[in-house]
Amino acid sequence: MKSIKAKEGEIFDIELEEDLLKRNEELAEKNKHLLDKNKVKAIDIMGSVGSGKTSLIKNLIVRLKKKRCLGVIAGDLTTTIDAERIKEEKVEVVQVNTGKECHLDANLIARALKEFDLRNLDILFIENVGNLICPAEFPLGSHKRIVVVSLTEGPWMVTKHPYIFREADLVVINKIDLARAMKVSVESITKDVHRIRPELKTICTNCLTGEGIEEIIKFLSL
Ligand code: MG
Ligand code: ZN
Repeated sequence: MKSIKAKEGEIFDIELEEDLLKRNEELAEKNKHLLDKNKVKAIDIMGSVGSGKTSLIKNLIVRLKKKRCLGVIAGDLTTTIDAERIKEEKVEVVQVNTGKECHLDANLIARALKEFDLRNLDILFIENVGNLICPAEFPLGSHKRIVVVSLTEGPWMVTKHPYIFREADLVVINKIDLARAMKVSVESITKDVHRIRPELKTICTNCLTGEGIEEIIKFLSL
């Protein structure tokens, strides 16, 4: 088969990109410092559009809101759909619209953090923009990073997005009730994850029944 591979730096200016990533990392460190100072634990939730990030956050909120003060940053290109859905749970939500940008970055998070009273917050969920590619390169200053993969995304989702799994602390395999309809098995998705990183923790969830949510809470000590 004939194939063309982009060389490093061929697609866009690599120096500019390195600068940008370095600046982002510095800002992410600052964010983490600010969160630590205020004893806030931040969880970055990454995954494609339709993987179930918002539903997962809502499930976590329902189980945590009685004992913890929660906040959410909802990243999205242009809409407020997810933020409105999360608001139904009566927690503080800050919408970040990135416009054409397909990921959140540490600068946007720094701006969003100013909208919260961090002293009164225990846990901050950050819903990243629906994309499994560049969020990997942009740490936000969160303490843990979750990747949500849903069985409805077909059998190659994990294998085609290896980089995001290298940055993750937990992989949530969602919509497990649809395995048969989709002809995709939890076992094969799990195998694909472990081919990339054998030690990476996976938890299966169904956000309609709440299956797996308590296991996430335990694993992340929320
Ligand atoms: Mg969403
Ligand atoms: Zn992007």
